[in-house]
Amino acid sequence: MKKKQFKTESKKLLDMMVNSIYTHKEIFLRELISNASDAMDKLYYRSISGENVGMDRSEYAVILTPNKDARTLTIADNGIGMTEEELETNLGTIAKSGSFDFKRDNEAKENVDIIGQFGVGFYSAFMVADRIVVESRPYGGDAAFRWESDGADGYVVTSCEKATHGTEITLYLKADTEDEKYSEFLDEYRIRHLVKKYSDYIRYPIKMMVEHQHPVKDKEGEYETVREWDTLNSMVPLWRKNPSEVTEEEYNGFYRDTFYDFEAPLRVIHAKTEGTVSFDTLMFLPKNPPYDYYTKNFEKGLALYSGGVMIMEKCADLLPDHFGFVRGMVDSADLSLNISRELLQHDRQLKVIARAIEKKIKNELEKMLASDREKYEEMFRAFGLQLKYGVYADYGMHKDVLKDLLLFVSSAEKKYVSLKEYTDRMSEEQKNIYYACGETVDKIDMLPRVEAVKAKGYEVLYLTDDVDEFALKVLGAYAEKEFLNVCDNKMELGTEEDRAAIQAENEASADLLTAMKEAIGDGVHAVRFTNELKNHPVCLSTEGELSTEMEKVLNSMPGAAGQAKAQTVLEINVNDPIAAKVKALHSADPAKLADYAKVLYAQARLIGGLSVENPAEISALICRYLAE
Ligand code: ADP
Repeated sequence: MKKKQFKTESKKLLDMMVNSIYTHKEIFLRELISNASDAMDKLYYRSISGENVGMDRSEYAVILTPNKDARTLTIADNGIGMTEEELETNLGTIAKSGSFDFKRDNEAKENVDIIGQFGVGFYSAFMVADRIVVESRPYGGDAAFRWESDGADGYVVTSCEKATHGTEITLYLKADTEDEKYSEFLDEYRIRHLVKKYSDYIRYPIKMMVEHQHPVKDKEGEYETVREWDTLNSMVPLWRKNPSEVTEEEYNGFYRDTFYDFEAPLRVIHAKTEGTVSFDTLMFLPKNPPYDYYTKNFEKGLALYSGGVMIMEKCADLLPDHFGFVRGMVDSADLSLNISRELLQHDRQLKVIARAIEKKIKNELEKMLASDREKYEEMFRAFGLQLKYGVYADYGMHKDVLKDLLLFVSSAEKKYVSLKEYTDRMSEEQKNIYYACGETVDKIDMLPRVEAVKAKGYEVLYLTDDVDEFALKVLGAYAEKEFLNVCDNKMELGTEEDRAAIQAENEASADLLTAMKEAIGDGVHAVRFTNELKNHPVCLSTEGELSTEMEKVLNSMPGAAGQAKAQTVLEINVNDPIAAKVKALHSADPAKLADYAKVLYAQARLIGGLSVENPAEISALICRYLAE
């Protein structure tokens, strides 16, 4: 029989396993038991989705068999099993299992620590064994196959005999050394301890044949040895336990096993709710979005259980879209077990639970914002976009749930602020909540209008995501303060006299301004003088509902190119020498004025983060005047 080679990725991981430090090695048992539990789940789901599997739920079990003479530990399950091909693909390579992605992402970090915390599946068995034999028979098939490997140099698959479906994994433990005693994994108490520590919540019994000393009946003082099955785990699902009895390690291990994430969750929400509908829930805020999170392939939802028995793997109705990143489960004895999916959608109890869940998540996030700012910001960096879409979605239906969860970077310290923090520190005379949009915080910070507003001592929110301004438009106001784009013409910074003065100036210069507008063409809605800019000679503002940022976003949507048009206004700083220059050119050299108008408009667009429509023409003009 020809030995087959592991894929290179698997080899690397094998090396890592073999060389990991000793204290992490014990997690191999958790990994193999979790795989067994998954395999039983898969078969069990088939039976609840209507197939006659011929097995009662109570018949599923993991059997552990230590054999001290042979130095082997066997982990057997009666789950779905594997075909010959599955043995090859599942155990011959880990390239496509989550383990490898994690390995690649963490190459630079402390490998061994991650093994200890999260484990890496089947391959972890090579931490304690130098030879592994897997015998498996798939459910519904009659052929069984044996996969065996003694580590890095490959594996062999042959056919074998196996009476029932399921998988049996035999580990040939490594020889003991001075400081690494692998034989302890054959010790009954060590095994019991490991199952309790890592796998107590597994919902199928984990059994081991043990010897007990029983007093002999009617013979005082005499004992006999009785061999009997013992179940090592309590099987109480983690979410049904009392939160005070669950350790962080248990939560993290459970989260990892259930959701195949390699990072510990940012926060755990574990609650028991009594009321019209009573339910237990265990939810997790992941640290990172799943790789497909912002695609349409992503399916949100919580697992739904009735009295510890799963009814549905992902119940989308339990989670609003804006909290779609939350993972976890809900268990309610009040739900009927044989409820169908269609009925579930209209189930009144389910709606009550969903509302309570939304509230719970919201409260938890608010608590986090108040008491664990750093973690909250980490959450917001990962999922804030989702929250902002949530404000905008469904015509703002959820804005009240979400408005206090939003963060924006502001001009004050270039750090995240909430809307409450912003409005709480607004000065009396500030009428609006100011914001500005752009590609990056640094670019926004340099906008002429932003500079002017900051000079007045006002704080400005810096919006860098496409959805931001749309979300603020839907919100309209916060704490009765309306949002105002600093580039909006409604924005007034000066005193009443200032405004009267600039209005008079603009009226007196009407001809000049019209001439400039005509030179620029359709691109611009108007040209005006302003006395609100600090250092900058020109800037762009808008009139009407649409900002230039919104124009950009709307036009980037498929099929919409060029349809949205913001009404842009070229503003010229009346106190800048360029103002006197254009006034002089108006009568002296109208052709040159036209060139100046085009260049000034192009500059205003560039500063505003917009592209110039006629770059070649503008470049030629600038060079001509530089050469003068
Ligand atoms: P992961 O569990 O992260 O996918 P593993 O390396 O632990 O990675 O396992 C790889 C695959 O092998 C599993 O996804 C599963 O399809 C299969 N497998 C492992 N153990 C069993 C088992 N006891 N019964 C059936 N299939 C199994």
